[in-house]
Amino acid sequence: ALLDRTAAVDGAVHSYLHVDEDGALAAADDVDRRRAAGESLHALAGVPIAVKDVMATKGLPTTCGSRILEGWVPPYDATLVARLRAAGMPILGKTNMDEFAMGSSTEHSAYGPSRNPWDLERIPGGSGGGSSSVVASFQAPLAIGTDTGGSIRQPAAVTGTVGAKPTYGGVSRYGLVALASSLDQAGPCSRTVLDSALLHEVIAGHDPMDSTSVDAPVPPVVEAARRADVSGMRIGIVRELTGEGFQAGVQARFDEAVQHLVDAGAEVVEVSCPSFTYALAAYYLILPSEASSNLAKFDAMRYGLRVAPDGLDAPSAEQVMAATRDAGFGDEVKRRIILGTYALSSGYYDAYYGSAQKVRRLIADDFARAFESADVLVSPTAPTTAFRLGDKLDDPMAMYLNDIATIPANLAGIPGLSVPSGLADEDGLPAGFQVLAPAMADDRLYAVGAALE
Ligand code: GLN
Repeated sequence: ALLDRTAAVDGAVHSYLHVDEDGALAAADDVDRRRAAGESLHALAGVPIAVKDVMATKGLPTTCGSRILEGWVPPYDATLVARLRAAGMPILGKTNMDEFAMGSSTEHSAYGPSRNPWDLERIPGGSGGGSSSVVASFQAPLAIGTDTGGSIRQPAAVTGTVGAKPTYGGVSRYGLVALASSLDQAGPCSRTVLDSALLHEVIAGHDPMDSTSVDAPVPPVVEAARRADVSGMRIGIVRELTGEGFQAGVQARFDEAVQHLVDAGAEVVEVSCPSFTYALAAYYLILPSEASSNLAKFDAMRYGLRVAPDGLDAPSAEQVMAATRDAGFGDEVKRRIILGTYALSSGYYDAYYGSAQKVRRLIADDFARAFESADVLVSPTAPTTAFRLGDKLDDPMAMYLNDIATIPANLAGIPGLSVPSGLADEDGLPAGFQVLAPAMADDRLYAVGAALE
């Protein structure tokens, strides 16, 4: 049924870069067989899922939305993908994304943008707009996203779906093509909070293949989603992430959601995180720095595309590399490689990269102080509802500003969740409510999120 749905709607929505009809049906048949044989199976066995094209999938193309990886088929599964398969979850296909996960709209995908099912002229968020739109357009009940600066939460917000970024290190990054290694985190996309919790449990847990993987029990996310209990919980409203700069209709739905939590027994406190003012600036130095280093491996020798430079009989390796990177990377990727290489270069390192790392510490300190008086922090997930395709494409700063509420969590490594808060009055489009919790207290996100459903 889902494959039929895809055949009917994905020409317009363009959630997928690759659909694996045969693989998905074979995996589903396998689950049927095991069930008939009386095997005890996972709760999500047989539930199909779509996976963002940034995760390595054995035997399935993995492009990261880039021409430079066109034709690359990984010889191995990411740990997360292996866990999906072990749970018996058929993989429907790979979802569209901004090239190497750089963006907030999917307009930076080399294969064309995905569209928002609520209004096809609008963006489905980014970078994981394929994963949000695949769920919002009922092509898949679940999807995997990755969140380096909001790429799970912001797409969830603008498509009226649920998305969670687990604690940094909570889900293995082995086989996730790195954007910024100290910020990247994979997580669930779904239509309900409990669905995300069930998926979170499948993919989380220690992995010796990832040196930053947390070796501790997975937080009780499913239990928290089932109980949906916020009585006595202290909810902190972050002063810097409300009011000015936030669309009136988004703010109104946020205020109502807070009132709903109060009615359910929560207590509201106001907190201030003054260093958040510098979060965007720090993020857009740290991210390009790490990305410029991570993307150096696309050298025309190891993966995907190789372009012969024009007019040279015997080009050097460096000339092939330059021609390939010129043809294979899009403008946004080049912009960030140049920015990151500059920020890391000798003479500038301390002034840019070093300062950004100090700001990162101040932001973590702000969170630590806020969590002394609040159990969770809340804000609108994104300042606006879905903007129109093309609206911010020529203005990188405007695109970056969309991440204001989501990136502090990545800089501090803490978990975050976006749940739908209703439709904004001005445009009738979905708005998102963000919940943040201390590291490894992911269960609190699900308790609050479920209480709002
Ligand atoms: N919009 C952010 C960026 O462009 C989000 C990135 C992400 O989370 N992958 O960097």
